[in-house]
Amino acid sequence: MSSQRSDHDVVIVGGGTAGCVLAARLSKDPGTRVLLLEAGSATLPEAVAYPPAWPSLAASEAGWGDATVVQQSSGAPVPLPRGRGLGGSSAINAMVFARGHHTSYDSWSEHGAKGWTYDDLLPYFERSETATSGAPGRGTEGPLTVGPARHPNEILLSCLDGAVENGHRRALDISGGLEEGFAPVDLNIVAGRRQSAADAYLAPALERPNLDVVTGATAHRLLFDGTRCVGVEYGVDGSTRTATAAGEVVLTAGTIGSALLLQRSGVGAEDDLRQAGVDVFHRLPGVGHNLHDHPRANLVYEAQQPVPTPRNNHGEILGLLRSTEDVDGPDTQIIFIDIPLPNPVAPVQNGFSIGISPMRPISRGSLRISSADPYAAPVIDPRYFTAEQDVRVVLSGIATARRIAGSAALAGWGVKEISPGLDTVDEEALAQYVRRYFGSYCHPVGTCLLGEDEMSVVDSELRVHGLEGLRIADGSVIPSIPSNNTNATVYAIAERAADLLRRS
Ligand SMILES: Cc1cc2nc3c(=O)[nH]c(=O)nc-3n(C[C@H](O)[C@H](O)[C@H](O)COP(=O)(O)OP(=O)(O)OC[C@H]3O[C@@H](n4cnc5c(N)ncnc54)[C@H](O)[C@@H]3O)c2cc1C
Repeated sequence: MSSQRSDHDVVIVGGGTAGCVLAARLSKDPGTRVLLLEAGSATLPEAVAYPPAWPSLAASEAGWGDATVVQQSSGAPVPLPRGRGLGGSSAINAMVFARGHHTSYDSWSEHGAKGWTYDDLLPYFERSETATSGAPGRGTEGPLTVGPARHPNEILLSCLDGAVENGHRRALDISGGLEEGFAPVDLNIVAGRRQSAADAYLAPALERPNLDVVTGATAHRLLFDGTRCVGVEYGVDGSTRTATAAGEVVLTAGTIGSALLLQRSGVGAEDDLRQAGVDVFHRLPGVGHNLHDHPRANLVYEAQQPVPTPRNNHGEILGLLRSTEDVDGPDTQIIFIDIPLPNPVAPVQNGFSIGISPMRPISRGSLRISSADPYAAPVIDPRYFTAEQDVRVVLSGIATARRIAGSAALAGWGVKEISPGLDTVDEEALAQYVRRYFGSYCHPVGTCLLGEDEMSVVDSELRVHGLEGLRIADGSVIPSIPSNNTNATVYAIAERAADLLRRS
């Protein structure tokens, strides 16, 4: 195989947030022939562009429809949406654009990763964005145009006032990674429409003759010549094809997709592969392990006054705070949501919600293939809330959220907590509510962790340990989840990966 001429220099697997960045950045050099393979479609539902419609997208053809196995904490499976199609999860997500708080990147070196602190990532954060806020330290020339909602929903502004009334800091730029407190967060919305990675990065590059994009192409397995990855076998329209790379194969199939592709190719923990009937090609015990996510519990409120019709992403304002004075950075996010979410107590017609999520969860789980079949559903087990500390952090956030909801700033709306309801005050009853009725915040990371130890999968330059010609550059490499939503961090990782590939 290595003696054949490859059609491409770089083959990128997965056209989501990271894949679109890499396809655009690498094909900028006309001498680099780039192939982008994406399992989903190039044409997504019209609702993708309309920000308030995002909650409907996960169940459309733009989503994979995954769910976890039954969770020990809740006794039920938890839906775990991820995007499918050009733009990937950036095409169906909630459009919050925020760097993690800088303190949360300090733990990235725990597995030995070198050069991945907040300061190291800063040039890449800046490179990805044009921040309309003009806040210090933000990018001014990047492909993504990001900024806070110009006219946030009035109910959310009252929540912000309520937070300040309760002594919380009014942050200037909660998306920049340096502040704590409450503020309108930046959004991936431009002139009222979603801006996905495909819109911002890929679309302007599509005409380049050295960039090929194949959609409807599911990568089945990686191809090796000795320990060198030389290409990818993929399925499209019922036939099986091969793509070869003269340079490198880069996995950007996401936290779920990249680990599954490694496992199907015989790269992973021996037990996981054997259980699925796959021969071990290269032993890497960390593949699929260290899976973690932000779980989120919600308080749901009814309002007497009509809540204005949502115009943006429903979650225009959020806060980052500490659950106790002992932590060295924010470990809790509180997000104000301008719709009453479905809840276990009673349907609410007119109201809003407050979401509370532990930003530095300790619970860790795993992901594995169920068989060698590339179309078989995976076994996803994040083990949400198996660490009791994660529940305690949410309980602290609930106490704060309730104080905000009870503030004078919200009194004029005629607010009443419906779920769980103010009669649920006992700490254990509240803990039960959290464990039973949380959902995923859809930020899974960590299945191909970055580092230099036994459990790490990629080294500090994103190369898969023990193999050549293979890198991973998406949310899967994140060793521990940043304190905020994850997309901005994935953009930065991909921007950095483009630099690493260009240098090699
Ligand atoms: C519903 C939802 C809401 C979210 N809200 C926010 C938010 O508001 N703010 C935020 O910061 N983050 C949010 N996130 C998370 C954020 O979007 C992700 O962290 C980020 O997009 C991950 O980027 P990625 O490149 O790692 O993976 P993805 O963007 O998921 O891209 C992976 C791509 O690979 C493709 N793929 C997978 N397997 C294969 C295969 N075998 N062959 C070929 N292609 C394959 C997929 O179809 C997909 O297009 C949300 C996510 C979801 C799902």
